[in-house]
This record gives sequence, C-alpha cells and structure tokens, in this order.
Amino acid sequence: MGALAPCAVQASNSRGRQIPEAPPAYRSEWQRDRDRIIHSAAFRRLEYKTQVFVNHEGDMFRTRLTHSLEVAQIARTIARALSLNEDLTEAIALAHDLGHTPFGHAGQHALNACMAPFGGFEHNLQSLRVVDELEQRYAAFPGLNLGYETREGILKHCNRRNALALGEVAERFLQGRQPSLEAQVAHLSDDIAYNNHDVDDGLRSGLLVLEQLLEMRLFRRHFDAVRLRYASLPERRVVHEVIRRMINEQVSDLIETTRSALADSGAQSLEEVRAAPGPLVSFTPEMRAGQSELKAFLRTELYDHYRVRRMSMKSARVLRALFELFMDDSGLLPPQTRERIAALDDRAAGESARARAVADYLAGMTDRYALAEYERLYSPGALP
Ligand code: MG
Repeated sequence: MGALAPCAVQASNSRGRQIPEAPPAYRSEWQRDRDRIIHSAAFRRLEYKTQVFVNHEGDMFRTRLTHSLEVAQIARTIARALSLNEDLTEAIALAHDLGHTPFGHAGQHALNACMAPFGGFEHNLQSLRVVDELEQRYAAFPGLNLGYETREGILKHCNRRNALALGEVAERFLQGRQPSLEAQVAHLSDDIAYNNHDVDDGLRSGLLVLEQLLEMRLFRRHFDAVRLRYASLPERRVVHEVIRRMINEQVSDLIETTRSALADSGAQSLEEVRAAPGPLVSFTPEMRAGQSELKAFLRTELYDHYRVRRMSMKSARVLRALFELFMDDSGLLPPQTRERIAALDDRAAGESARARAVADYLAGMTDRYALAEYERLYSPGALP
C-alpha cells in the first residue's frame, strides 16, 4: 500500500485485537485478518449458499462466495483510489456475508421468524458471531480474534438491544457515530455488486427480459451507447458490456463524490470520520436515485418473481421444519451442537440457549446440506 490518507485506519489509530498478539512478520494486521477469514470453514461454505438462485439451480449463477469476491474486488479499487486501508476493506468485504443462512433472504426471514421469541436472527450479527465465537481453529482463542475495525465493519446494522449486549464493537449504534471509511466503502460496494450481478443473473435465468431493463435509467443510458457503437453485437455481449459500464460508472461516482465530501468535511483523522453527522462515503443524489429505481425493480420483478417465491417458500419450509424438530428433541443434533447448547446454557436460559445453538447450526448449513438434512430426517426411506 502507498501512503494512507490521514483518516484511513492504520496501525497508529487501530484499537487492535481483543486478545493481543505479536504483530505478523510479513503481513499487515489486516492482511492477517483477511487470511484468517479465507481459511475459515464459514468462508468455504459460501460457495454452496444461495445469493438469489438456490445453489443447485445452475452453475452459472452467483453464489455467496462469488458475490463476496465481487464485493471485495470493487471495494479494493475504491479503497485504493481514496488512499484508504485496502487490506482492511478487503477483509470486511470477504467477511460480510459469513453469517448468511442457506437459501438467501428466504432463509434469513424463516430463521428470524423461528427465533422471534429468542431475540431474532440477523445475518450481520451472525457474521460477527462466526468470527468472534463459532469458528474454532486457533489454540489461543475462540473465533478468529480479528481486529476491532474489521469486526466493526462486519457489523453493518444492529438494533439497540443487540448493541447494548455487544458492547464496544456496537457502541456507534448507540452513539449515532459512523464506522471507518473502509467499512463505509465495503458496505456500498455490496450494493454496487449485487445490483449489477442480479441484473446479469436475472437476464441469464430468463426471469428478467431486456425490454424491462430498458425502462431503468441506469441501464438504458449505457445500453443505447453500446448499441450505437456496436450495432451488430450479440445481445449477451451487449448486456455484459452494459453491466461493466454500470459498475464502472457507480465506482467512479462513489470515488469522486467521496473525495469531495471528505474535502468539504475537513476530516483529518479517523476520530473526525467517526464523529461526522453521517457517512462520508456516498454516491451523488442522481446515482442514488438510479440505484433506488433499479433496486425497487429487482425486488418486484426478480426477488418477488413467482418462480423465485416458489424456491423461497420451499427453502423456508425446510428451515422451519428442521428448527422445530431440533427444538423438540436436541438429541437429534450432532454432538458438537449439543456441546454448544451446554456451553451457552451458562449464559442464557435453557430454551433460548438451545434455540441459539440450533440457529447457529442451521445458519452454518449450505443449501444442499440443509436439503440433505431435511431428507434424512423427514423422508421415511432415507438413512438417518
Ligand atoms: Mg452481500
């Protein structure tokens, strides 16, 4: 990395790790965080978790893993252009979906409903649980013992009750303060990545058609420009070129808008970034409007498409059924999960400890593992 901006996260202003460790010999602290994330079991399982399309629907669609890689790649470009801590931004981006349930948002909704009497389920919070507690790989500490700024970035949202329980890492939600610029970059890179790749996957699946997209301002402008310049290009290549240009435009817009917002704010330190009245990383209002239009379109036309809803309904049913079964009889759970219930029992009342351990178990499943588990437990012919 070149010289960092004064308000970037760096060794001199970092709050460090919960359990202090000797500095790495050849890497930055944040490269070490990134490496721990990549070596985690939760990261590998992202390969078989739904983004929009259930994993077995086709090999060409995004999964949570390829989504996370796209977010990281976009976030690194932005961080580097703004002289921010690129390693930290990358670590946050790669970890941001570690706590996601199988079956995408349908899975999150279903598990949240099951967990309603026990404090709910929120995938952001779960991502933090994964890196703080659930990964068991190091002799000296539970979890990955990531740096404060990486953990703060992973916790994108948090309600008041959870913030009170979490302490320092969530204090900004109680104090109305901002996270680091690196976290802000990772958060908006997530939006850029999924808006664009969902257009691509939506068209590829046939659930969206080109004519619908031409109603979207962001898409239309680039489509017309590409068609004008390359009149005979096959449609699939036109679509890729349009998406490439949309990503490029959004990234450039974010970099330029943030550059001037930073200059206008006069922020010269991380502390001033945190104390700012709102996030300093942002798009122009015009770009925001275009993105909102696209987001609303994707919601009604893709995420709520009847074929997506059919997949969602089935997956929600699988998770609900497994949750109920394990709550009724924890003797059906594998030994490690039963041990976790016993461990959690010291901290929470019996039933809610069991619910949390069951939620951790279910959230950690890949799509296909959850389906196989359902089959094993509910199908009369399947081996247990
Ligand atoms: Mg994401």
